[in-house]
Amino acid sequence: MTQTYDVIIIGAGIIGCSTAFHLSKQGLKVALLEKEDIGAGSTGRSSAIVRQHYSNTLTAQMALHSMRIFHNFEEAVGGDSGFTQTGFLVFSAAEDQAGLEANIALQRGVGINTELVSTEGLADIFPNIKRDDLMMAAYESEGGYADPHLTTTAYANAARRHGTQVFLDTHVTNIRFEKDKVVGVETTKENFDAPQVLNCAGPWGARVAKMAGIEVPIKSCRVQVTLFRRPPTLTAHPVVVDFIHASYFRSETGNLTLCGLVDPEEANAVVDPDNYDENVELAFVADVGERVIERYPMMEQCENIGGYAGLYAITPDWHPIVDELPAGSGCFICTGFSGHGFKLAPAVGVMAADMLTGASAPEFDAHLFRFSRYAEDDLVRGQYAYSIAG
Ligand SMILES: Cc1cc2nc3c(=O)[nH]c(=O)nc-3n(C[C@H](O)[C@H](O)[C@H](O)COP(=O)(O)OP(=O)(O)OC[C@H]3O[C@@H](n4cnc5c(N)ncnc54)[C@H](O)[C@@H]3O)c2cc1C
Repeated sequence: MTQTYDVIIIGAGIIGCSTAFHLSKQGLKVALLEKEDIGAGSTGRSSAIVRQHYSNTLTAQMALHSMRIFHNFEEAVGGDSGFTQTGFLVFSAAEDQAGLEANIALQRGVGINTELVSTEGLADIFPNIKRDDLMMAAYESEGGYADPHLTTTAYANAARRHGTQVFLDTHVTNIRFEKDKVVGVETTKENFDAPQVLNCAGPWGARVAKMAGIEVPIKSCRVQVTLFRRPPTLTAHPVVVDFIHASYFRSETGNLTLCGLVDPEEANAVVDPDNYDENVELAFVADVGERVIERYPMMEQCENIGGYAGLYAITPDWHPIVDELPAGSGCFICTGFSGHGFKLAPAVGVMAADMLTGASAPEFDAHLFRFSRYAEDDLVRGQYAYSIAG
């Protein structure tokens, strides 16, 4: 039996679920197809840091929009995102100081509540942090982290309330075309018909694009995270992105601190998304532990409790591809978010829904993320050395 929809979305990660919500809210009949379970891909392992420190006007605007949704999630989406406001700090090297200042000016220009703080001011925000190699820091009091499972499930449930039908354990095996127009998909369960199909398959995004005959430069890359248990004397702390030590750390429930790297080299850890080592390596724990202790020496009192590996879907400029591919076919792509996709997802859902409905005045113009930028050598670049952060 074949079922007919307005739109088929492939992948129920945070991007697919947010887009399903926005499309079905506008009355479109949406089928959301997922080969495993909601959040089974990158999303379920996301560190889920929510911040607005971006260095392009568009991405800063999207981060601002998304931050507002996280602060107002129950009303805007419904349900709980687990958002915890801890504040967010960025540390960068002296040579990046001018860039940091310009970045803060850009963010303030789009309405983001962010500021530069002196090393003295930093002591009030995060006592006991090592400051001797810093000139100043960027601080967003509104930043924090969310729970990726809660958030994605809440989006899926909100989409369902608006009529989206979610099909789990439903692996899309082919995209069907007639006369260069998409007409539906084949899956391991049944066929689905629709004049529009949206690829939100994250690290599997290149494989799904190939079903439409398109090669996209999206690599599936393994990234690791490790967790430390703090003694009761060390309370929750702000999120820190430390470009000097190429690392990040944030509080986690249960008096834990979650740590990872901010390292362009992660793009070299290309793996098969269906078959990779999901454990954390001891060498990674030791390396990241040292970097975090360098910044926050009291972390030496913490006990490591292991970690895990997940996947980034990395493009050559660490920004997504949001486009219709092939042009005019009704087959769309919205994936390749590298380490950014969680926090931007509320705005991405709006952007993707506007693209599919052909909105005349889209809230966020997807042109920056067009596929042709790679052939045109017009990649999305931040204005600063630490541009992999967006
Ligand atoms: C360790 C780690 C830390 C991160 N930290 C942050 C952070 O702090 N802040 C932030 O903003 N971002 C962070 N990210 C990035 C962010 O999590 C991702 O960008 C985001 O989750 C991507 O969502 P997605 O929906 O595009 O992809 P995914 O969550 O991977 O969803 C794609 C879905 O498609 C399904 N699928 C694939 N192929 C098919 C098929 N053929 N048929 C049916 N279904 C299919 C998959 O099973 C999967 O569920 C992190 C990621 C990782 C791994």
